[in-house]
Amino acid sequence: MNQHYLPGNPPLEINLRRSKQAKRMSLRVSRLDGRVTLTFPIGLPESQALEFVREKESWLRQQQSHHVPSVKIEIGETLPILGQDRLICTGQGRRVVMDEARIYVPGDAATAPRRLLGHLKQIARSELATASDIYAAKLGKPYARLSIRDTRSRWGSCSSEAGLMYSWRLIMAPPSVLNYVAAHEVAHLSEMNHSSDFWQLVQNLYGDFEDSRAWLRESGHELHRYQFGD
Ligand SMILES: [Zn+2]
Repeated sequence: MNQHYLPGNPPLEINLRRSKQAKRMSLRVSRLDGRVTLTFPIGLPESQALEFVREKESWLRQQQSHHVPSVKIEIGETLPILGQDRLICTGQGRRVVMDEARIYVPGDAATAPRRLLGHLKQIARSELATASDIYAAKLGKPYARLSIRDTRSRWGSCSSEAGLMYSWRLIMAPPSVLNYVAAHEVAHLSEMNHSSDFWQLVQNLYGDFEDSRAWLRESGHELHRYQFGD
């Protein structure tokens, strides 16, 4: 990957990627971080690729303006947990505790982001395991293991060895959305595809899923805004 900047205020960063597979140029703006990537065929001169980018500059800048800025997590900041905004406060005692509107993180303010991150991963695992257990029991097929990661490209996955993987960031989404992702991945234990049979199975396990799917499509990228200093 090769970087290039189009002049302006601010300068526009372009990542140039030559690809053996690419038949023509394709320009992509990441919904997660606004990163611009131009993929172009290996035989095409870079000058021609840059010319293409320049033609699209106003469109690119407009796309980037839709991108939501990131939030640095610290005491006094707000973040959603189970779909509800909570103010991060300094807590007493030894444990992280939460009520309807706040989450209390004990200890030094400097360590609060890491502490909070650990706690969120822990409750994400517990909520996702509970949901997966329920759907797997309904399906009548067990899963082999469950892991929690910080993935950018997907909310969950199901391997051919029946391993479920989820993004811990789902703990910030409304519970209905977290449950939908669990039902979706559990359904893959039976149907390793996105056929109509698969979607019927998701419907049987979860019920109407269109709203949750739409939520992920429209608002899912916002869960990636929160930075925990990691
Ligand atoms: Zn799927």
